Amino acid sequence: MKADDHGGSVLLERYAQVAGSEVIHHLEQLVEPLKGAKVVHVNSTREGGGVAEILQKLIPLKRALGIDASWEVISGNPEFYQCTKAFHNGLQGTGSPVSRQLLDAYEKVNAANAEELRATLEAADFVVIHDPQPAPLLSHCPGRRGRWLWRCHIDASHPYRAVWKYLRGWVSDYDASIFSIPEFAQPLPHPQYIVAPSIDPLSEKNRELPEDDLQAVRERFQIDPELPMILQVSRYDRFKDPLGVVQACQLAAKLTPLQLVLAGGGASDDPEGEAVLEEVHQAVAGDPRIRVLLLPADAHHTINALQRVADIVLQKSIREGFGLTVSEAMWKAKPVIGGDTGGIRLQVFDHYTGFLVRSPEGAALRIRYLLHRRELLREMGQRARRFVGENFLITRHLREYLAMFLSLRNGTRGRMELF
Ligand code: UDP
Repeated sequence: MKADDHGGSVLLERYAQVAGSEVIHHLEQLVEPLKGAKVVHVNSTREGGGVAEILQKLIPLKRALGIDASWEVISGNPEFYQCTKAFHNGLQGTGSPVSRQLLDAYEKVNAANAEELRATLEAADFVVIHDPQPAPLLSHCPGRRGRWLWRCHIDASHPYRAVWKYLRGWVSDYDASIFSIPEFAQPLPHPQYIVAPSIDPLSEKNRELPEDDLQAVRERFQIDPELPMILQVSRYDRFKDPLGVVQACQLAAKLTPLQLVLAGGGASDDPEGEAVLEEVHQAVAGDPRIRVLLLPADAHHTINALQRVADIVLQKSIREGFGLTVSEAMWKAKPVIGGDTGGIRLQVFDHYTGFLVRSPEGAALRIRYLLHRRELLREMGQRARRFVGENFLITRHLREYLAMFLSLRNGTRGRMELF
């Protein structure tokens, strides 16, 4: 699709209505020297988790602007996913050594995927490899003609050394890497860019919904319209601290009546979800104030409605690369009580767009505080929406990608912060 194709210009017009026409004009100017460039993004899952969520929206918008963008997904076997989950845990600081057997599986899966993808990747002007899963692909593409970027979505601020040392071996040869906040950047022999992720205001996850849809979701999940509702949307992952959320809400509920909805699903590249979900069920132990939902990967409309129905959204992670769920909730004018960590700090300004907390007790305190100050809750929500509108929409994200591509093509040196 070219920018002047009807579909592309209709899409741009729709973004102009949300982000402002000057934002779209700026993108159109910036993209001029990149028109027709082949850009390939590669990750390891088409659904589930923030990376897939971003790519689903970023690729069509790039295409609408005239970039020949595409998205490839590598496939693996259980040992591969076990290995890459260990990398994920290791980068986020809770690592243990990864066995040679798992590393072999990782390397073999990448070699096999490279056979399928080599022609596409070698021909691309820019290749963006997301997270550790496909990182070795570069080493299988000796005939590459474009620039390769490694995009790390993970909180790599305090990596488990052995895991980072191994991964650095694959990542060092890239032309650049991208991290979400400066604290995650690592010593690497190439330019590092700091780019925050984004949400798409037009997506099924974030578009405005009629009241009927909200009512339908209340009925479907038996949400009591008379009781304040707290929500956390997350994969069932220990870094998201679902047990801490249950504890916080049970503590808060001792003094303030409320209900909690935990909404989550799995990602096809996350093998630990089932075990964590089981731990959550045990902790909830049939508490009638708590609903634990296991949603399919395409439940975007349902999650949108739940976020709109909630009074307060929690994202009580103990490590978080960014936390798209935070911006999603803020865009719906909800204050977020978030873990004081990683990318959540970029979005939640303590006492302004929500609260940062470090324990279930802290979260319980803030839940009660907000539920007893309805006017403040509303004002915080409005500020949160404005803040996301100014900082975390896909149009800003795309502008930074374009600036990065241009600076790489023109040969930049050193680190450049775009955010
Ligand atoms: N999400 C979803 N279904 C779920 C759980 C999460 O669609 O059951 C979405 C969520 O709305 C967000 C993304 O997946 O868009 C999660 O991104 P985030 O950055 O919050 O966390 P990640 O899963 O990437 O660690």
